[in-house]
Amino acid sequence: MADRKGKFVRVKCSKCKASQTIFGKASTKVRCLECSTVLAIPSGGNAKIRSRVEEVL
Ligand SMILES: [Zn+2]
Repeated sequence: MADRKGKFVRVKCSKCKASQTIFGKASTKVRCLECSTVLAIPSGGNAKIRSRVEEVL
């Protein structure tokens, strides 16, 4: 998944299976709204997605 377009991505929390749309270039940690699992961490350009990407929007 190196070639991510970097807009919004819909991810699925690996823990509670909740879907959440997050900004692909998040500059802060993104946590699941349901269980606070970290879904993405900032890494310069695109955020590193730590959960399963369902769709790039
Ligand atoms: Zn969750």
